Amino acid sequence: MQGQYTIALCDILGFSDLVERRPLVRVVKNEIAWFSKALYHAVNKEWPENVPSFDEINQNSRVGLAWFSDTILLFTRKDTDNSLQELLQILASLIYMSIIEGSTRLRAGIAYGEAFIDPKKAMYVGKPIINAYRMEQQQQWSGAALTKSTSERVPEDVRNGGSADWPIHPYEVPLKDNKTISRLAINWTYHIHDQDFLGWSEESKEPRPEEWISKPSICEKWHFTKQFHLDVCDQCRKRT
Ligand SMILES: [Zn+2]
Repeated sequence: MQGQYTIALCDILGFSDLVERRPLVRVVKNEIAWFSKALYHAVNKEWPENVPSFDEINQNSRVGLAWFSDTILLFTRKDTDNSLQELLQILASLIYMSIIEGSTRLRAGIAYGEAFIDPKKAMYVGKPIINAYRMEQQQQWSGAALTKSTSERVPEDVRNGGSADWPIHPYEVPLKDNKTISRLAINWTYHIHDQDFLGWSEESKEPRPEEWISKPSICEKWHFTKQFHLDVCDQCRKRT
């Protein structure tokens, strides 16, 4: 249906790498199964016992879903503040869960505007989809940012962040090539967590020098994700 939509385009980072490196059956059994459960939890607010089907996941009355390979599209079913808020909360929850316990990470761009969406015909067309994709691709971290015009769709009194109900925060969002851009970012740090959760691997808190050389882009994304947490997390600031 044609109308104004807020769209979040999410990319499961490292997915193609996983598919290339591991037997497909294991990726489906492990990563896809976990991600389906995490998505179900973000969308329906409870952890499912079994791996849910797409139709079981896609039951939120305010936010609709489409999923193709490593791309997930979320859209507001109606152009209301409640739907927008729900979409931001789902994203915050999903990014948080993928950082805390997932073996893949998530990156998303969020855009607002006129689109044509008809899930029954798998039709998703419009500028916000393109703009969300571009915003998503530019970023160099696990996180999500709103395009500039989308920030104006967010109610004015919550644009400065500071509220778990509207999990956004104005931030210098890291982009590729060492650039940044001043945008509203999803604040995923409201979910309860230990302080030490953003270690590089089980063996090491930081990437080793040779890893900075062999996989600089992954190391950078990790670094900027960790920096975002340090900069905006109220929970951890209170503890120190
Ligand atoms: Zn924290």
